[in-house]
Amino acid sequence: MTDSMNGADFAALIQALNAAMAAAKAELNALDSALGDGDHGEALAAAFAEADEKARALDKPTPTSVLQVTAQALLNRMGGASGALYGTLFLRMSSAFKDRDDVTCSDWSAALDAGLAGVQARGKASPGDKTMVDALAPAVDAFKAGADLAAGFAAARAAAAAGAAQTERMVAKFGRAKFAGERAIGHVDAGARSMALVFETLDEYWKGREHGET
Ligand code: ADP
Ligand code: MG
Repeated sequence: MTDSMNGADFAALIQALNAAMAAAKAELNALDSALGDGDHGEALAAAFAEADEKARALDKPTPTSVLQVTAQALLNRMGGASGALYGTLFLRMSSAFKDRDDVTCSDWSAALDAGLAGVQARGKASPGDKTMVDALAPAVDAFKAGADLAAGFAAARAAAAAGAAQTERMVAKFGRAKFAGERAIGHVDAGARSMALVFETLDEYWKGREHGET
């Protein structure tokens, strides 16, 4: 099998993310309730439902077009700080894939770098600030150390999960959770957890495809 992903893969991935976010809605709302306003799961589920619908409607999906309609849905549907940040991540990745029909491991490395840079330029958060960046930044690093897509996705998934778990011990420097101060300690950040879920879903999708399930 060639080590690359095409537009149909990306459409199927967005479908898988829609299912994953719908299933995680209550968990993500509960995490956001502890330190924020409790809408993170709801907002992500609504945005990925719309993204899935838009991606399915594409005539000839490419990695770029699928991620572009996803970014639009995240920006329009999700709202708030995290909608802009998630939207930026997908939009930067969409542009980085440059309308290619198939994207490889090195294309993914460049796209993830661009996505992370966009999130950090917009949100100003660094690792340790108890945000989605605590899952995203280590995932990007781990992916780049992988020899192929399967190794990269597996490593990114593990790094994102570990990064999200570490937010439990942190005080928040950004977002609504900032106002919780020391009270934030003992709670995992909702955005870090959802970002870990994105990488988990990506890895599961690719494992399924490699075994001919999709
Ligand atoms: P809102 O705070 O607008 O209700 P959500 O509840 O959807 O947005 O998302 C909250 C998540 O957004 C937080 O858990 C955190 O991970 C992320 N977040 C907030 N501000 C920033 C920022 N400046 N940089 C990176 N991530 C952020
Ligand atoms: Mg919220």
